[in-house]
Amino acid sequence: MSNKENVIVIGAGPCGIAAGIALQEKGLNPLLIEKGALVQSIYDYPTHMQFFSTPDLLEVGNIPFVISRDKPTRLEALNYYRNVVERKNLRVKTYEKVEHVKKTGEGFVVDTVDRLGDAHQYVSKYLVIATGYFDRPNYLNVPGEDLDKVSHYFKEAHPYHGLKVAVIGGKNSAIDAAMELEKVGADVTIIYRGSTYSESIKPWVRPVIESLVDKERIKVMWNARVKEIKKQSVVVEQDGEIKEIENDFVFALTGYRPNRKLLNELGVEVNEETGEPVHNPDTMETNVEGVYIAGVIAAGNNANVIFIENGRFHGGILADAIASKE
Ligand code: FAD
Ligand code: NAP
Repeated sequence: MSNKENVIVIGAGPCGIAAGIALQEKGLNPLLIEKGALVQSIYDYPTHMQFFSTPDLLEVGNIPFVISRDKPTRLEALNYYRNVVERKNLRVKTYEKVEHVKKTGEGFVVDTVDRLGDAHQYVSKYLVIATGYFDRPNYLNVPGEDLDKVSHYFKEAHPYHGLKVAVIGGKNSAIDAAMELEKVGADVTIIYRGSTYSESIKPWVRPVIESLVDKERIKVMWNARVKEIKKQSVVVEQDGEIKEIENDFVFALTGYRPNRKLLNELGVEVNEETGEPVHNPDTMETNVEGVYIAGVIAAGNNANVIFIENGRFHGGILADAIASKE
């Protein structure tokens, strides 16, 4: 038996939650389905991360996010989004993964599997896809990337004390991780394809990393691309020359891009030039009637143009559009 719903929001990240609240305010009683915990992506961020955004720019549902400093930590953000969901009494099913979606004459059929392995089916009149991008790292596609010592996610530095760690990438995740690793006494080498510091590095971080590199506390290989990762070394091509450096662990912090599996199943087209799912920015409805997108899933090839600060407003736009159809 399928459960009948009016609107299903897939993904309870900040932008899915914002969409849920906006829909609720229109009296549409949405159901959010989340494969992990609430705001699972933020939970998976580096343990001691501090956001770049001030708290007011991360607020959803007009609920104030108040802290005593200028930028919130990951823990404060987790606390904030939990409180929002409780105070708004949002209907959220966590630990239930949407496996497939299909358009039928009855509505959108949503097939899920919960944490016990049990299957569920819903039929919904409208669908909002807010599945983010953190599940899909930009892979290097080099031999050895699948070794256990390689990760595309950085949590904490402590386990790497006294070890040789390579950090691949040159933007904020890579620089933050390198600095945290250096603090615990890891021997850190950044391997970056760029020829100098990225303009994306936050201005308050840049002097710190520059100083650490100048003092040779962190090594950087510029114009360098990893060719292969081996058990005890990394093979790098730098300025046309092949070098092999000793290595214990690798963090390939090369960014993330949306997984469009569910959109593909529904027949949502992708703009060939920009890589964006085809949608009307005035409604957030895709080329498939009744299917809407919210948050970073709406981004194209450059996923970093949508973040919480702006993706949180997609919910209000799509809720207005759905309400006007009802
Ligand atoms: P997400 O937060 O990724 O949420 C998507 C949710 O969908 C996840 O919980 C996921 O588990 C769930 N999901 C995925 N697939 C399924 C499925 N099949 N079934 C059910 N659920 C599913 N942005 C800012 O504005 N300010 C910052 O300071 C900032 N700092 C950042 C720091 C880091 C380290 C990173 C990586 C990003 C940062 N960002 C920041 C970007 C921001 O976190 C993302 O843009 C934001 O998470 C996007 O929200 P979202 O709701 O679209 O996606
Ligand atoms: P990112 O900004 O996408 O940077 C990815 C890095 O990896 C870039 O330096 C890129 O090189 C490099 N790269 C990508 N593909 C590669 C490949 N195939 N081979 C080699 N190098 C490759 O990712 P991110 O640093 O993880 O940041 C993601 C988002 O999180 C951003 O929005 C960022 O602002 C945010 N963030 C926030 C915080 C915080 O709030 N404290 C901390 C970290 C990150 P190029 O430089 O040449 O493009």
